[in-house]
Amino acid sequence: MIGLISATAAGAAARDRLAAAWPDRTRVYDGPVGDAVRSAFAECGQLVCFLATGAVVRLIAPLLGEKTADPGVVCVDEGGRFAVSLVGGHAGGANELAREVAELLAAQPVVTTATDAVGLPGLDTLGFPVEGAVAAVSRALLDGEPVALRADAAWPLPALPFAAEGAYTVKLTDRAAEPGEREVLLRPPSLVVGVGASKGAPADEVYALVEGALRDAGLSPRSVAELATVDAKAEEPGIVAAAARFGVPLVTYAAEELARVPVPHPSKAPLAAVGTPSVAEAAALLRGGELLVPKTKSDARPAMATCAVVRRPPRGRLAVVGLGPGARDLLTPRAGAELRRASVLVGLDQYVDQIRDLLRPGTRVLESGLGAEEERARTAVAEARAGHAVALIGSGDAGVYAMASPALAEASDDIDVIGVPGVTAALAAGAVLGAPLGHDHVSISLSDLHTPWEVIERRVRAAAEADLVVTFYNPRSRGRDWQLPKALSILAGHREPTTPVGVVRNASRPDESSRVTTLGGLDPAWVDMMTVVTVGNTATRNVAGRMVTPRGYRWQESASKEAE
Ligand code: SAH
Repeated sequence: MIGLISATAAGAAARDRLAAAWPDRTRVYDGPVGDAVRSAFAECGQLVCFLATGAVVRLIAPLLGEKTADPGVVCVDEGGRFAVSLVGGHAGGANELAREVAELLAAQPVVTTATDAVGLPGLDTLGFPVEGAVAAVSRALLDGEPVALRADAAWPLPALPFAAEGAYTVKLTDRAAEPGEREVLLRPPSLVVGVGASKGAPADEVYALVEGALRDAGLSPRSVAELATVDAKAEEPGIVAAAARFGVPLVTYAAEELARVPVPHPSKAPLAAVGTPSVAEAAALLRGGELLVPKTKSDARPAMATCAVVRRPPRGRLAVVGLGPGARDLLTPRAGAELRRASVLVGLDQYVDQIRDLLRPGTRVLESGLGAEEERARTAVAEARAGHAVALIGSGDAGVYAMASPALAEASDDIDVIGVPGVTAALAAGAVLGAPLGHDHVSISLSDLHTPWEVIERRVRAAAEADLVVTFYNPRSRGRDWQLPKALSILAGHREPTTPVGVVRNASRPDESSRVTTLGGLDPAWVDMMTVVTVGNTATRNVAGRMVTPRGYRWQESASKEAE
């Protein structure tokens, strides 16, 4: 929850805009400002104060504790010109919140955290719990001093300027250890704890058992990714509470599934009670990994809980990112964030050039030329499988006649896949042409490289018969020049020669050009591989030079009847 505090009328007005925009995320604190700030600080994860920074500094100074636990605080000035991230920039999310608030109020975000200012990710924003000398090591990274990465295994980190050796270190490990003075420990989510418990097992007993097992094995509780058990124990209060105390999800499996997992210590008791010879070991091992702690029982008499600990191999991350049609401001913020999140970028050389400036220094770029699609897809998946954070890029939307399908056809469920949609050429062209896609429409690629022409022709025919607006991708190249005239002639069998047709070349790029013509008047020579061609349906009209496809014919009929 975001607590909102204001003192003046202007502040209250800005506050109300925020409250109206984010009704479920915000809560307004009225009354004397001091009391309001104190209550909000105690009750909210974040605060936005429409007050001078000086006033807020004085009010929150006595309340500040650990930077990992304190709320993030953002101040907005009386004129609504600046949203200042005051404290909790990373862990409290104040930097991000300052940007969001600024966007909403058309203000300038003010972020002074060093790592953000120069585009290095803060060590505490990598998605892994962090311990140790975060400030000192971040400073060393910023200052260009050598910082060595010591990783037990490759986890999907963004690109960071690590050195082979250095006085400072970042350790990526699930092993219990005290960080050195110039050391940061990052905790990968590598440990799965299988838990079994009799009915009514106390939460303290379950928690103490797991904590003790981790301690004895020299493992960090902050690397626990999840607790796992059998479906029948999904609501067992002691297990549920223990998972909550570790701050991790509780995952449950059917007894039949668990019964199929080979385990070192099967026993009769759970077989009789829940239908599997092992709960703790089987649940921990079900998704694979190495058994670090075999089944152990709690010390209580009688023991009511068991646990087992498994280390899973790292999961790489494959982001499939659409870059949009070309213009930088049509690349979504999410796509930009994924490019910065990656340590490996895979793509066609010309698309890589389009976004090279957005990559973090140190990002490994694997670019290849036209035609190497299969190889790019395989490379991207292999890099993700090796544990890296990979971004596979494509123009427009990466799922439209592009890399997403060959890549995901290769991928197995041992990697995480994140899709980021992009503005595809049909939409970019539609916006240039007017409103050609106002009713049902299809895209058809005229490239017969991967698809037999008979199939393409059958689809064009079907679209013609169904009176769909059609956007042709890959419409014409030097070696492929008869397909477009053929496709247009099929459409012309069902539509008037006066049907509007839009041709857009290089939509949203500096040399964009477009024209609205007709089915009878289109000269294929205008069309090349940088172009899409959108053919209207029987209701599409040229209105003031723009293509307009009515949303519905019924609506149109009744509107014209009313006009009569
Ligand atoms: N994934 C892309 C399409 C790849 S197929 C997307 O979603 O847009 C390549 C074809 O897309 C090109 O031959 C052309 O027909 C079309 N195209 C891509 N970008 C374009 C742009 N900026 N302007 C016009 N057509 C474009």
